[in-house]
Amino acid sequence: MTSTANPNTVPHYINGQTAVGESGNAQSVSNPATGQVTGQVALASPQDVNTAVESAQAAFPAWADTPPIRRARVMFRFLELLNAHKDELAEAITKEHGKVFTDAQGEVARGIDIVEFACGIPQLLKGDYTDQVGTGIDNWTMRQPLGVVAGITPFNFPVMVPMWMFPVAIATGNTFILKPSPLDPSASLLIADLLKKAGLPDGVFNVVQGDKVSVEALIDHPDVKALSFVGSTPIANLIYERGAKHGKRVQALGGAKNHMVVMPDANQDKAVDALIGAAYGSAGERCMAISVAVLVGDVADKIVPRLAERAKALKVKDGMQLDAEMGPIVTREAHERITGYINKGEEEGAELVVDGRTFDASQTGEGCGEGFWMGGTLFDHVTSKMTIYKEEIFGPVLVCVRVPDVATAIQLINDHEFGNGVSCFTESGNVAREFGRRIQVGMVGINVPIPVPMAWHGFGGWKRSLFGDTHAYGEEGVRFYTKQKSIMQRWSDTIDAGAEFAMPTHK
Ligand code: NAD
Repeated sequence: MTSTANPNTVPHYINGQTAVGESGNAQSVSNPATGQVTGQVALASPQDVNTAVESAQAAFPAWADTPPIRRARVMFRFLELLNAHKDELAEAITKEHGKVFTDAQGEVARGIDIVEFACGIPQLLKGDYTDQVGTGIDNWTMRQPLGVVAGITPFNFPVMVPMWMFPVAIATGNTFILKPSPLDPSASLLIADLLKKAGLPDGVFNVVQGDKVSVEALIDHPDVKALSFVGSTPIANLIYERGAKHGKRVQALGGAKNHMVVMPDANQDKAVDALIGAAYGSAGERCMAISVAVLVGDVADKIVPRLAERAKALKVKDGMQLDAEMGPIVTREAHERITGYINKGEEEGAELVVDGRTFDASQTGEGCGEGFWMGGTLFDHVTSKMTIYKEEIFGPVLVCVRVPDVATAIQLINDHEFGNGVSCFTESGNVAREFGRRIQVGMVGINVPIPVPMAWHGFGGWKRSLFGDTHAYGEEGVRFYTKQKSIMQRWSDTIDAGAEFAMPTHK
């Protein structure tokens, strides 16, 4: 930790202005491709969090009272600005996260989808109305905002994951505090600037940079009414429990171990393409990355050699080079963690087919010698007892498990503690249908390796990949950020004289 006097420090954003905060603490931000420190990010104290919550609380009444169509118009202007600045956002992502520029562009585009969804908020908030539930009595429901809500986000999607949250939270009339990952904080400030230019009133969107200290202060603050979290399972679990203890609404999306089943009748060229892209894209640092290939029957003997050839040929280089297929690992610590898993896989007897530890980094780009580089790794003959099967590695490591039939594949996946995404490659409608019905996973792809639901469907896993009931964005997101109120009314002409002691019925 160092002083925040450094002009390269990424600040907080509170009440429409950047702020260095009172804590005086900061941590380094690096470019993973070069390994060089590029700046600092402020780390908020509980007092800084309190200042942000006060700003959001002060902005809430007027924003909650703003007609939904006017809130939607701010979203429409934000959408235009995002489209005009999307490459700036993508570049900020690549320089701090490391993912390749085209992938960062895709991330921004999937975030923009949610802003488009939020533009339709008047329709989504219109409620239900029943005329004449009893004689002279009408009943309707409305959805009202909660107040100040917070979003705590992971390093791996510094634009898209915040956009799973704040467009819906703000459009529904809440005020919002974003706590981004300190590993890639710059995009949050670009977003804040675009929201201000779109006409969002000060205090409606705030950013608190920080670590565990700021997260705990947000959870414990009595004026923060709901928490959306996306990150690893141990932290998701902690946040869910601590938030629930304070009686708060919490949706906490956690880690994953996503399987892709390849059936003997699958189109094998397409399955190999899908596995390579979904396992090594973004260096495997996606919660929907495929990290386990479940190869049914004789598929393994046919496709493992092809996977090996492709994994060795991956173009691993600085993400700003447009032909790059995979960038560096986000930090030195993550690189060491992934290396540790590969060592463990070897120790536990899996067959190491391609070893990403031996990757030659000399081709990665100018000035990239000190970057956090690693090639794609492929293991075969992995079993469900091995650590590399059970735990989330969150790196470019694909493990292959051989099974005799689809029933064993389904059982294997259903027994895993995570249930985020899954995919099945087959040409059989019956297999696809049964797979979709029986699998205990929240997001399922049939011949689609990364089935991230569209903006109006909602995103969320099952089992230890999601703590809480509601999924992110879509109509589930609208429900999460609003409370339902039911109003029943009648007027005196239809009210019978005299007290009623029996339970009212629809007379
Ligand atoms: P992480 O859990 O380390 O951090 C997530 C957020 O929590 C960050 O803002 C971080 O600052 C904060 N945090 C970290 N430790 C904390 C603590 N002890 N107390 C309170 N807050 C803390 O996750 P990460 O490494 O940034 O992201 C990778 C993880 O996120 C992977 O496990 C991945 O699967 C998961 N992820 C899940 C989804 C999903 O939708 N399910 C999406 C993206 C990422």
